[in-house]
Amino acid sequence: MNLDIAEFKLRRQKLMAAMGNGVAIIPTANEAIRNRDSHYPYRFDSYFYYLTGFQEPESVLVLVAASVSGPAQSILFCRDKDMEREIWDGFRFGADAARESFGFDAAYSIHELDEVLLKLLGNQPKLFFSLGESLTWDNRVTGWINNLRAQARTGVSAPDEIVDVRKMLDELRLYKSPFEQALMRKSAVIAAAAHNRAMRFTQPNMMEYEVEAEFLHDFYRKGAQSPAYTSIVAGGANACTLHYNANNQKLNAGDLLLIDAGCEFDGYASDITRTFPVNGKFSGAQKEVYELVLAAQAAAIAKVNIGSHWNEPHEAALNVLIQGFIDLKLCTGTRDAVLESGTYRQFYMHRTGHWLGLDVHDAGEYKDKRNDWRKLELGMALTVEPGCYIRPADNVPEAFWNIGIRIEDDVLVTANGFEVITAAAVKTVADIEALMQS
Ligand code: CA
Repeated sequence: MNLDIAEFKLRRQKLMAAMGNGVAIIPTANEAIRNRDSHYPYRFDSYFYYLTGFQEPESVLVLVAASVSGPAQSILFCRDKDMEREIWDGFRFGADAARESFGFDAAYSIHELDEVLLKLLGNQPKLFFSLGESLTWDNRVTGWINNLRAQARTGVSAPDEIVDVRKMLDELRLYKSPFEQALMRKSAVIAAAAHNRAMRFTQPNMMEYEVEAEFLHDFYRKGAQSPAYTSIVAGGANACTLHYNANNQKLNAGDLLLIDAGCEFDGYASDITRTFPVNGKFSGAQKEVYELVLAAQAAAIAKVNIGSHWNEPHEAALNVLIQGFIDLKLCTGTRDAVLESGTYRQFYMHRTGHWLGLDVHDAGEYKDKRNDWRKLELGMALTVEPGCYIRPADNVPEAFWNIGIRIEDDVLVTANGFEVITAAAVKTVADIEALMQS
């Protein structure tokens, strides 16, 4: 992996500066058992990774802010070198090589955590830690604090304030650096190519999982380490189940296929949805709804600008969709009345996007401290994903039954507007039909 060590150092420095004083404890994720003695593929914790670039399990980052008693320090605790275990499970850095390679001020064996941490934490005013994420870690932290309290008569004090360190990191993670943007573009380009490949590959009577396999094949062969989330490969009526992921039904000529799939490249998620006809040609009704969702998406993307507030893309998409629902006789009344009454929710029941980054639903608040939608700023990254899902119902013309469409792209907020980093995945009716019939 191509890590910019200076950037990770800078992130730690930024956090330590924001802390002012005290000690932060940021553990990585635990390994998880899948069944009996088989593990799920390991995925590091995004907050820990954001500050370290270090991917091994059983690791903890401890940051000590500068104070009168010494300079700022970033300290890694990690697994020991262990030839026996490495023969079975693979390479481990060990503390010394990890310190060198990742630019920490110090590194220790994970087995020394209790001993070293009690020294670091004693007489510190604040502990920066995210309670409630892991019972194991909550208990360990409680143990350290109680240990220090018990030393009160020897003049050692425990921190009297615990600050949620994840909240501070959420704010930092919202703004993607050029280094992060480059990784997100790579992730986006791989996923976009996989969507195009799936369109070319799909034929009537295939199974949904055959198309899913094409995605996984393309992700891995291009160097993505994992899908970013469980792929949704939903033919026909299945597309009207928002989180459908059984992916085990036959694809019928005349139906649409909705695919929501993205990959993870060096930690960064892409998240794309495309919807296309199984037989390569949209029907009249399918095309009408598709063009509507596409227009809604274009209106939403146009609102991705510095200074727009978070909800503006959603409002723009909703405006277009509601007018379309009225035109298609899915909703009745004026646009304002449909918005007010919420009858549009029969066909569009989710929001138009989310932050994107190390997590597919990335860190960061959507509202500011006054509870207003926050403004979009340079370097933020989000998805734009309007949709329309029409289940059979008495108030719906039958031609539209079971049409489920979502179109989702990944967008960066740039100095002069926006950059759709997933633009390589084709999405106009003409481009999709041309690609599928080529
Ligand atoms: Ca998605």
